[in-house]
Amino acid sequence: MHPKGRFAPSPTGPLHFGSLLTAMASYCHVKSQQGSWLVRIEDTDIPRIQAGAESQILAALEAFGFEWNEEIVFQRERLGLYEHALEQLKQQDLIYACACSRKQLQANVSLNSTYPQTCRHLNLPFNGQAIRLKTTSQLICFDDLIQGTCCENLSQTTGDFVLKRRDGIISYQLAVVVDDAMQGITQVVRGADLLDNTARQIWLGECLNVSRLSYCHIPLAMNAQGQKLSKQNLAKPLDLNHAPQLIQQALQALNQPNVDIDTPQSMLAQAVAQWDLAHIPHQLELKDFYL
Ligand code: GLU
Repeated sequence: MHPKGRFAPSPTGPLHFGSLLTAMASYCHVKSQQGSWLVRIEDTDIPRIQAGAESQILAALEAFGFEWNEEIVFQRERLGLYEHALEQLKQQDLIYACACSRKQLQANVSLNSTYPQTCRHLNLPFNGQAIRLKTTSQLICFDDLIQGTCCENLSQTTGDFVLKRRDGIISYQLAVVVDDAMQGITQVVRGADLLDNTARQIWLGECLNVSRLSYCHIPLAMNAQGQKLSKQNLAKPLDLNHAPQLIQQALQALNQPNVDIDTPQSMLAQAVAQWDLAHIPHQLELKDFYL
């Protein structure tokens, strides 16, 4: 199968150094296999979208020399596809409507974070309610190329999880699984903060009868306070005037061979030629690499 990877930022803020690590790792990994690299804007969670973030992200990707092989996909334009997947799951009796209020759920979370299946057998009408996917106690295992074998029994961790919120917003889990399948993605390379979403995505993929992907969760860059860099904790946006230096730093963080300062395009080409996934530190956080 033709290797296809993707970078899938949410437009909730500008890209930071952690995003650059993910973009570079997903790009170099798939390009080193002569594959294609796609960009997808994950903008289903409308209240969290930040005005201007999308154009900032695309400008940053261009400034860093990234070239994508297909037209950019925007999730906000694909709501019909997600509804179609929900319909398919409904036909198979794999989803149900849930009327639990946030308050009820929070009371439960303090005891145990697993959804207690309150609404599973109530047969509530779907309109205006959250939609949950049924989970089973089957152990879901996958071999992450960096983090090793990971297994999860969803009925004991998340329990039946939300695919569509009561306000109509499609969950990240549903959008990502549908899009990865529709776009023919074969490999997911992303930050280790998403590792614990993977079993849910594999389960949903099985319910939708789509092919399994390969997974690679790269360690997270931390700030000087030891927190992971994120848009939420206002990590410093990438400085587009220092793209070559930042590319060099990103390769160092990923423990890849050095690339001399040049244009971002040439540096990326050299990084691809020298890419060795096995050198990436096998951990969830880059402990010795504080920014
Ligand atoms: N949109 C997600 C994020 O920005 C990434 C999703 C993924 O790579 O699966 O964190």
